Amino acid sequence: KGVVHRICSGQVILDLSSAVKELVENSLDAGATSIEIALKEYGEESFKVVDNGCGISPNNFKVLALKHHTSKIADFPDLQSLTTFGFRGEALSSLCALGNLTVETRTKNEPMATHLTFDHSGLLTRERNTARQVGTTVTVEKLFSSLPVRSKEFSRNIRKEYGKLISLLNAYALISKGVRLLCTNTNGKNTKSVVLKTQGSSSIKDNIITVFGMNTFSCLEPLSIGISESCTIEGYLSKPGHGSGRNLGDRQFYFVNGRPVDMPKLSKLVNELYKSSNSRQYPIAIMNFTVPTRAYDVNVTPDKRKIFFSDEGSLMQSLRGAIEKVYSPSHC
Ligand code: ADP
Ligand code: MG
Repeated sequence: KGVVHRICSGQVILDLSSAVKELVENSLDAGATSIEIALKEYGEESFKVVDNGCGISPNNFKVLALKHHTSKIADFPDLQSLTTFGFRGEALSSLCALGNLTVETRTKNEPMATHLTFDHSGLLTRERNTARQVGTTVTVEKLFSSLPVRSKEFSRNIRKEYGKLISLLNAYALISKGVRLLCTNTNGKNTKSVVLKTQGSSSIKDNIITVFGMNTFSCLEPLSIGISESCTIEGYLSKPGHGSGRNLGDRQFYFVNGRPVDMPKLSKLVNELYKSSNSRQYPIAIMNFTVPTRAYDVNVTPDKRKIFFSDEGSLMQSLRGAIEKVYSPSHC
């Protein structure tokens, strides 16, 4: 039974970035305006996410890390109109199965915080009082330690995993309004370095300046496309000749209703259109699609990063037109 659970868990938590992503999204779902991500040894030793969200109420402690426990779905009439990041109650249970999970939490109704320890099957094994402000801290130590082969691979690829995580955190830093993000990493001799720090500004423009700097921002062209009455795309594209020389994939960020997503097809299209204006560069692109929740399906891949649009063809076509306008010679 344990093994089946662990293998299944491998589907939501694929790597370091999907693990941290689940925790950050839980913090956002909890209404946090300040989220700190603290890594030890690039996340290999441990990572924790500290937020000032609503906290977890004591009657949820026992079930918190059990598979399919979620407090979110009941608030919505159906899956179609769901707007929170989470809804399947798989993240905490998977993290339990894959590493050592502890939670510290306090709601505004509690005078004290509680420290919770869970075992690999998601059972609450220890509960004690602790001091903390309202909010939640989730700590995961030794991710993948329960899967020896995965664990070795994790150590071997840690710098790559770390890079992927930073890129994902940049995505949240770009899209989140009014949320302060801080990411730190502590190495061997207890040297703590700040990896990312944002001020919780109220516009994407200010977020871009924080994350990439004013120089990069001044090379961008705002993009605002109305695809239909209920579907719009807002964002920024690098002006012709102001792209990045390398295709690191770390300068293109796509979002659907504020959710970071992978859009390989779209990314290919943007690259292609940009290259026809300047053969040697890759564009910087930040695009948020606002679409009715019925128009796409986030359910398909377990890590929720692949999005499927019900009418992808016409969407791509409108986009092509709009991007071509930005890149057409007459425009510059
Ligand atoms: P899901 O997000 O799909 O509901 P998770 O396994 O990620 O499932 O989390 C389980 C539950 O734990 C959530 O529904 C929520 O009630 C609670 N929870 C987890 N993290 C937090 C947090 N940072 N703040 C408040 N509640 C949280
Ligand atoms: Mg969740």
